[in-house]
Amino acid sequence: MKLVKRNILLNPGPATTTDTVKNAMVVPDICPRELEFGELTLGVRDDLIKIAHGEKNHTCVLLTASGTGGVEACLTSVVPQNKSVLIVSNGAYGERMQAICDAYGISHVDYNIPAGKPVDLFKLEELIKSHKVDLSHVAFIHHETTVGILNPLNEICTLTHKYNLENIVDAMSSFAGIDIDVERDHVDYLVSSSNKCIQAMAGISFVIARLESLKKTAGIKRNFYFNLWANFEYLNKNKQFLFTPPVQTLYALRQAINEYNQEGAYNRYARYASMYEIMKKRVLELGFEFLVEEKYHAKLLTSILDPKSSHYSFNEMHDYLFERGFTIYPGKVGSINTFRLSNIGEIYPSDIQDFLNIFEEYLRLKKII
Ligand SMILES: *Cc1c(COP(=O)(O)O)cnc(C)c1O
Repeated sequence: MKLVKRNILLNPGPATTTDTVKNAMVVPDICPRELEFGELTLGVRDDLIKIAHGEKNHTCVLLTASGTGGVEACLTSVVPQNKSVLIVSNGAYGERMQAICDAYGISHVDYNIPAGKPVDLFKLEELIKSHKVDLSHVAFIHHETTVGILNPLNEICTLTHKYNLENIVDAMSSFAGIDIDVERDHVDYLVSSSNKCIQAMAGISFVIARLESLKKTAGIKRNFYFNLWANFEYLNKNKQFLFTPPVQTLYALRQAINEYNQEGAYNRYARYASMYEIMKKRVLELGFEFLVEEKYHAKLLTSILDPKSSHYSFNEMHDYLFERGFTIYPGKVGSINTFRLSNIGEIYPSDIQDFLNIFEEYLRLKKII
């Protein structure tokens, strides 16, 4: 097995992967129309459904795309031509859903909340009530990765069903990192991708869809490549992706799912959460402040307000850490400057300790603290 330099990615995905996932991509060339590849595809699909606990009523559509492609596919495939979608936004990914709808001329009602602030379920219900005749769906982000806030999945989905609406959940950076049960949580459409908490390579997005809901979308014709129903039907009938799949990326995803199953869902959540706790304690001790109120944290990513010191430069700090194997990520929320530390991927508490030591060393060296 080829050993590769290990970088600790603290950016919010693509996340650090294992060498076994990287090496899983080195396989003999294969035509993806061969049955062997079809079986691999269906196996991956079924396992993704299992991870979301959707075996009873859900299927899964695999697409060659980054996560945004999956969100675009979902919004443009399922909202009927004469209906609107209510989009809850408390960060950049919520705004992105609105931009996708604008690009396709899909009518949307926006519930905009300042980034990092929680959803007010009472307000959301009022908004649903006042637009009920026009709406077919409510769309929102589960873990809003711009800021690290966790929106209440079960509560929002339950509310949509109370008004006979369906829901679309962008669970890009929470799927496989936080316990999600599409049955228990009443999720109709859940979108995620291969390169975040499932710890594989970028290139595959997937939509875990309630089959009864998906069936109703067969007549909606607004898109082509990204048509969920067409992609679903083709894969189901032919055991093949409708269009060319990212062959090697799928092998890596297969391996990553095996490793997820070996680690176990609970252990993965616990590993991520323990790294968050270590990070939180030390960063607060160093005098930093968080953007999001503690009780709303997803514990997968932390938005930290830039230090006030005139010696501080994000780029310089980034480069110092990067040279030492750690990648951090900037973040700007309205007029507030932040930087972000994510704790997903194949990383461990000892990596976070190492990072924090070098982070503190840098801050002292530059007299920022
Ligand atoms: C990563 C992410 C996306 C997708 O981003 P891509 O760059 O298209 O992969 C969408 N929504 C959320 C919440 C994300 O974290």
